[in-house]
Amino acid sequence: MNLEGRVALVTGAAQGIGRAIALALAEAGADIAGGDVKLEQLQAVAKEIEALGRKGLALPLDVSSPDSVKAAVDKILEVFGKIDVLVNNAGITKDNLLMRMKPEDWDLVLRVNLNGAFLCTRAVLPGMVKQRYGRIINIASVVAQAGNAGQANYVASKAGIIGLTKAVAAEVGSRNITVNAVAPGFIATAMTENLPEAVRQRMLSLIPLGRMGTDHNIACGVRFLASEEASYITGHVLNINGGMYMA
Ligand code: NAD
Repeated sequence: MNLEGRVALVTGAAQGIGRAIALALAEAGADIAGGDVKLEQLQAVAKEIEALGRKGLALPLDVSSPDSVKAAVDKILEVFGKIDVLVNNAGITKDNLLMRMKPEDWDLVLRVNLNGAFLCTRAVLPGMVKQRYGRIINIASVVAQAGNAGQANYVASKAGIIGLTKAVAAEVGSRNITVNAVAPGFIATAMTENLPEAVRQRMLSLIPLGRMGTDHNIACGVRFLASEEASYITGHVLNINGGMYMA
């Protein structure tokens, strides 16, 4: 899979799955712009990208803010001249049972996880349409399809991501832009490291492959969807979940 000459924007690239995606795309030859609210960590990732012989740009980015998204995309266009690949990866959780869920926690998760993908997609599309090329990959979750108690806001945001993926895929297919989602299962990152042991064991018991996934497992799927080899795949949800949910 060769991404030489391509420029990718990866949101939430400072750690975890986003960092792994940024590195995997750089290994395949792409120059990378990473955006995150954790700028210092992101700058360290940009150095890792440069060590791979690619350009790495670290940008302050809050995907829930239209102004911040516009500023980041303008900067990438100024530095690299184009964006070929967008990975909408930034995401958060604010878990609680629905009856106890604060409206502000509902709003925040929807704003970051779903509005963020909308804003970034809207910001990069004019350039992709003009150049008649684009790859958009949205990070969903297994829970979007399977549901999960205690995560109504997160599940709704990720189900929204799948709907967004299919709608935009239908809108921009004629411009040679593909739009797909990757739905990770239970992946070992900061997001999952503080789960109570009982929950961890229950989740593991649901996974036929019997282990948590790695951020690299997810990055490999994203790299494939960004590649020429995936040029006839659009509107698809790629499950990378060890068999936890078989759609
Ligand atoms: P993580 O918490 O390690 O990383 C998330 C990154 O997003 C962080 O760097 C964080 O600073 C950044 N971020 C948060 N809010 C932001 C904002 N407003 N603007 C820009 N950046 C922001 O989590 P992760 O496990 O690497 O998750 C990455 C993606 O994968 C998320 O969308 C998550 O929902 C999804 N996912 C994770 C799992 C899992 O098991 N870890 C499973 C399914 C889906």
